[in-house]
Amino acid sequence: MDIGKVLISADEIDEKLTEMGAAITRDYEGKDLLLIGILKGAFVVMADLARHIDLPVEFDFMAISSYGSATKSSGVVRILKDLDQEIADRHVLIVEDIVDTGLTLHYLLKNLQVRKPASLELAALLIKDGVERPPLEVRYEGFHIPPKFVVGYGLDLDGKFRNLPYVAEVEGAD
Ligand code: 5GP
Repeated sequence: MDIGKVLISADEIDEKLTEMGAAITRDYEGKDLLLIGILKGAFVVMADLARHIDLPVEFDFMAISSYGSATKSSGVVRILKDLDQEIADRHVLIVEDIVDTGLTLHYLLKNLQVRKPASLELAALLIKDGVERPPLEVRYEGFHIPPKFVVGYGLDLDGKFRNLPYVAEVEGAD
C-alpha cells in the first residue's frame, strides 16, 4: 500500500492546534491540568498541542490496544500501560489522535471516571464522519474527515508512517 492524497497539511494542523491550545488555555486558567496522551498514536498531537497551551500542565500516558495491524477497528480494548499517577480531584484532558468507532474513548472514559477526577474532557485532532459510535462529547476537536483509513502525524500503518508531518490517505486501504 502507498501513501495517497494529503488530507491535512502540516500548516493546517499547526493552525488548528494553535486554536485548540488557546481554547484550552482559556478554559483551564487557574486550574491544575493533567494531559493524558493515548499511546502510541497521540504522542505527536500531545507534544505539539501541549506547546500551544500556556499553562503549567502535567503529562501522563496510557497505552491502549484496540487495533491490531489491520485497518479496521476490532472493538477489543486492552490497557497495555496504565497511568503513573492518581487522577482523583485532578482536571484531566485526554488527548487522542483520532476518533473512529469511539470504542477506545468510550471504554477509557468509563475507566477513568471511576477514579473520580475533578473533570474529564476529550481533545482529538481527527474525527471520522459517517461512523456509528456511542455518544461521545469531544470538547476540543480538530478536523472532521471522511471515514477512510489515514496515516501520518502519529497514525501508523503496520507501525510505519507515524512520523509524516501531515495526514494522508492510504491507497488501497478501504
Ligand atoms: P476507535 O476506538 O475510535 O475506533 O479507534 C481508536 C484508535 O484506532 C485510534 O486511536 C487509532 O490508533 C486507531 N485508528 C482509528 N482510525 C484510524 C486510521 O484511520 N488510521 C490509523 N492509522 N489508525 C486509526
